[in-house]
Amino acid sequence: MSLSGKVVIVTGASRGIGKAIAAMFAGENAHVAITGRNMSALQETAAGLSRLGEGTIVPLSGDVAQPAAAADMVKAVVDQFGKVDVLVNNAGITRDNVLLRMSEEQWDEVLDTNLKGAFNCIKAVTRPMMKKRSGCIINITSVVGQMGNAGQVNYAASKAGMIGLTKSVARELAGRNIRVNAVAPGFIETDMTAELPEKAREELINGIPLGTLGQPDDVAGLVLFLSSDKAKYITGQVVNVDGGMVM
Ligand code: NAP
Repeated sequence: MSLSGKVVIVTGASRGIGKAIAAMFAGENAHVAITGRNMSALQETAAGLSRLGEGTIVPLSGDVAQPAAAADMVKAVVDQFGKVDVLVNNAGITRDNVLLRMSEEQWDEVLDTNLKGAFNCIKAVTRPMMKKRSGCIINITSVVGQMGNAGQVNYAASKAGMIGLTKSVARELAGRNIRVNAVAPGFIETDMTAELPEKAREELINGIPLGTLGQPDDVAGLVLFLSSDKAKYITGQVVNVDGGMVM
């Protein structure tokens, strides 16, 4: 995939999908900065990833919802490696509730982390990417942003917002050879989906044409492809990895 020596930032990479994405880049000998709010979890993940390839794995703690923290993370990467080639906006949370019971706090927390967090990180990498006239940004959205989901108005709005963000930034930055795409996973087996009661899980699987939940590596493989030169003519797209849920 010609990703050796590339400098990659994956937000929310201490576990789950972000960790799988970081592991795949590490296996291609890229330098990978992994971010999250819990430094000890990041250090543990970084130690495991370091064994996968020849690149450097850098754990960076910070809350993507805070513009200054996002800027500091990107600055630390540019100071160490002199550039950023790929940004993967993966950090995300859920705070589910039905609309009438959803608090302002639940709404704000999800929008601030998922949507504003992506905006903050994109803003921070744009200048270094524009300077070298190349770059790749991938936003991890969700089928829920396309289909909606009862009990997740905050999450669905944040993920739909990421799609509009992706397309607008793709248009703004295409002239500088910066590609911006979104990846929309369906239901992937991680901590985020582990809480599902057995009955809900069964119903969910019945609605997936391929008949099974996805794995973090299914998402990571697509992210790797979109980041590589093999995808050099692809920008502004939303690509689903969802077992056929949305077609
Ligand atoms: P996860 O297992 O809960 O992991 C989330 C990661 O994000 C963790 O590393 C977490 O670390 C980090 N994070 C959370 N809030 C953060 C913040 N404010 N600043 C920095 N890092 C933060 O979730 P996942 O299932 O892997 O999901 C990853 C992404 O895929 C999310 O954007 C999610 O919406 C999306 N997605 C997931 C599924 C699914 O079925 N799992 C489906 C569609 C889309 P800390 O808690 O230490 O900060």
